[in-house]
Amino acid sequence: MTPSPLGPAAPAGRRPAGRSALVIGGGLAGTTAALALADAGLRVTLVEGRPRLGGLAFSFHRSSPAGELTVDNGQHVLLRCCTAYQWFLDRVGATRLVPLQDRLDVPVLDAEGPSGRRLGRLRRTALPVPLHLSASLATYPHLSLAERALVGRAALALGRLDPEDPALDGADFAGWLRRHGQSPRAVEALWDLVGVATLNATAHNASLGLAAMVFKTGLLSRPGAADIGWARAPLGELHHTRAHRALDAAGVTTELGTRVAAVSRTPEGRWSVRRAGRPGEEPPAGADGADVLVLAVPQREAHALLPDGALKDPGRLLRIGTAPIVNLHVIYDRTVLRRPFFAAIGSPVQWVFDRTDASGLRGAPGAGDSQYLAVSQSAAYDDVDRPVAELRARYLPELERLLPLARGARVRDFFVTRERAATFAPVPGVGRLRPSAPTDAPGLYLAGAWTATGWPATMEGAVRSGLSAARAALTDLGRPHVNPLPAPGGGTPKEAA
Ligand SMILES: Cc1cc2nc3c(=O)[nH]c(=O)nc-3n(C[C@H](O)[C@H](O)[C@H](O)COP(=O)(O)OP(=O)(O)OC[C@H]3O[C@@H](n4cnc5c(N)ncnc54)[C@H](O)[C@@H]3O)c2cc1C
Repeated sequence: MTPSPLGPAAPAGRRPAGRSALVIGGGLAGTTAALALADAGLRVTLVEGRPRLGGLAFSFHRSSPAGELTVDNGQHVLLRCCTAYQWFLDRVGATRLVPLQDRLDVPVLDAEGPSGRRLGRLRRTALPVPLHLSASLATYPHLSLAERALVGRAALALGRLDPEDPALDGADFAGWLRRHGQSPRAVEALWDLVGVATLNATAHNASLGLAAMVFKTGLLSRPGAADIGWARAPLGELHHTRAHRALDAAGVTTELGTRVAAVSRTPEGRWSVRRAGRPGEEPPAGADGADVLVLAVPQREAHALLPDGALKDPGRLLRIGTAPIVNLHVIYDRTVLRRPFFAAIGSPVQWVFDRTDASGLRGAPGAGDSQYLAVSQSAAYDDVDRPVAELRARYLPELERLLPLARGARVRDFFVTRERAATFAPVPGVGRLRPSAPTDAPGLYLAGAWTATGWPATMEGAVRSGLSAARAALTDLGRPHVNPLPAPGGGTPKEAA
């Protein structure tokens, strides 16, 4: 078992009876906090409103005309610099299900190249930063020579910014790019290509601080930091099945399908909750109230549950907006894409992944040679409310433009998953609204990708927030915890040169 970054695990059966914790919300933040607190010896109860763990990163079953599928609500990727999420995968025994590329390699298809579609690649070499990307940039066909030179210069300037400088939080990324000579083409073919997928916002709607954090950490910290990984199994296998097993093994009591309607503190200073649909205050199962309460729910729910006085200006939580992600799921009757994924420019299509294996389609009865593609559309304000028929009419011809083999193929299934509040909106000024884990109420901590992690809303941010909440709680309880959180951009033992 991977040691907790917060300290040694208490031997099973020898957990100190005294201290207990209640974690509300079984997304990645809450699951992480529960594991970390249990590993440090607390008696932990995790309460999740839905009948499954995993929060915003989950899977469901679909009987498709092409076969039985396990569908992810949206394609999720990580980068090698996401060290906390990799700790989580290790902790739940899922590392092997989420391999990383040996070296960053992103095929970028331009639907409107001079003579039809044109392929470019964003790749790294083994050279040190920033030379690791220079060969790729020098030959990137989607930008002119002059644009490439200006991109290189802007990247170096970005590397000199301090993402934690409060002045950067209030500024927008697009303005900074313009001031650094970036053409609309460079923004589309490079900065937004990466930024929209990682920030869930175009440069116009992104805080310069968060953008600087993403580009510095991913592209300018270590050569391998931006190597991409994605799950080869459904997200539900990682974030529900394996996570649940790890929670059980750690001694955590997990209550699924249990929505918390209110929280309160007893006169003795212990935390209780009222479960929705059940009258009266109830302490967590088998306890007389908890020493620690972690609220690992989205910002709106946190605002509704926060007791008076727990946060200065609690209304700021309601000013943290949300941003949508839409995934279009297309099943062709044959192979139309011979790569695991690609990104597109000159088209409304953003990123496309082959999900034939991960969904269980390959080899399923009746599937034949069918291929399942997920088209992942971030910052999808234009699409989130479009009817399925309109999305079909908009995107299938685009896929045919990008993938010649799709032109003669039959579409066996087309469906859409929409997450209106997929992430918090990383707009300028959002940084000052995000609270850190400790609150003014003793024993009460906040977690969630929307809290002050320094990261955009990602799985990495969610896990970091859960670790931060656990660390703050353990510090307040006077419990020692040894290993610090992995530093942003820090390498892992798996770092490839
Ligand atoms: C379509 C999509 C694509 C994404 N792509 C990526 C990606 O490629 N890479 C990446 O790193 N991140 C990605 N993300 C973001 C990532 O999934 C989230 O940042 C992360 O999962 C958030 O975890 P969390 O624990 O902070 O919050 P959540 O997942 O929102 O968890 C909060 C939990 O609290 C529960 N809850 C709420 N209220 C109550 C209550 N009153 N009582 C009990 N339980 C309650 C909810 O049911 C939920 O399970 C994507 C998200 C989406 C939706």
